[in-house]
Amino acid sequence: MTQMMNAAVVRGFGQPLSFDEIPVPAPGPNEVLVKIMASGICHTDLHAANGDWPVKPTPPFVPGHEGAGIVARVGAGVTHLKEGDAVGIAWLHDACGRCEHCITGWETLCESQNMSGYTVNGSFAEYAIGHADYVARLPDKVDFMSIAPILCAGITTYKGLKETETKPGEWVAISGVGGLGHVAIQYAKAMGLHVAALDVMPDKLALAHDLGADVAINAAEDTAVEQVIDETRGGAHGVLVTAVSVPAFNQALSLVRRRGTIALNGLPPGDFKTPIFDVVLKRLTIRGSIVGTRKDMEEAIAFAADGQVRPHIHETRLDRVNDVFAELEAGKVDGRMVIRMS
Ligand SMILES: [Zn+2]
Ligand SMILES: [Zn+2]
Repeated sequence: MTQMMNAAVVRGFGQPLSFDEIPVPAPGPNEVLVKIMASGICHTDLHAANGDWPVKPTPPFVPGHEGAGIVARVGAGVTHLKEGDAVGIAWLHDACGRCEHCITGWETLCESQNMSGYTVNGSFAEYAIGHADYVARLPDKVDFMSIAPILCAGITTYKGLKETETKPGEWVAISGVGGLGHVAIQYAKAMGLHVAALDVMPDKLALAHDLGADVAINAAEDTAVEQVIDETRGGAHGVLVTAVSVPAFNQALSLVRRRGTIALNGLPPGDFKTPIFDVVLKRLTIRGSIVGTRKDMEEAIAFAADGQVRPHIHETRLDRVNDVFAELEAGKVDGRMVIRMS
């Protein structure tokens, strides 16, 4: 008899997820079955469930890509993981390992990659399949609830900060203090950067202060840009946009210092204008940044394991995912909602 598990399933775009009993998957060669202990809820899960992006997943599917748990079974050929090992299932489920991106340390750009909770089932379930070579290794005795957000929010912002090319002692402006931004502030401080945080909600600005931001500025104020330029004496050396709001992308171009780099993490649908004159004359760099490699993951987890980065979490349950999606859409979530699975 097949063993069954509870899962939150997208049966059609824009519909509430349904809570179903589905078979526990069996790990194939080079795969592991992970018993999910905790799963964070990311804005991307909401986009996946709504079919918001140009390349869409195929329903039915199980979202979730911040799945922290323990190896319950190993598939054929897996020699470096064993039952009981603590691992994480992240967005980058697996990649080809052979293409020009994979072999140059850019596996996140592999065109043959699978994404957890998108092209393969993810962690909004009691069990999920991970690729043995791509699951994140977690420390023994890890707190699954607080490490879960590191698997996406953590690695994404840590890599995004690296991509701003800011150096210790320099200023980074972090736009958006939500699930990503509140973690970004902590990484930035741990990396020796000065932080100017921007958001439009007063409670999020207060949170930014608590987390160590040197200044927290209301992005909706007319003088927001002036304030950043003033505080940073000429503009931020780098800007990390985590906000899921198109105006934040435009604002970033005014916050950055000459020769600065803007790294984009947030993924709102839409376009933003790029003023050619500013980009050319100020030698600005604008780049996207999507999650991170396995090496970035190891580093991102190490900061958290050291206690330098602590995601602000709220515990929720699997059967509350639809409510959490509504709260995310309304911008009402401070920090990260994490499902306690077990
Ligand atoms: Zn995510
Ligand atoms: Zn590849």
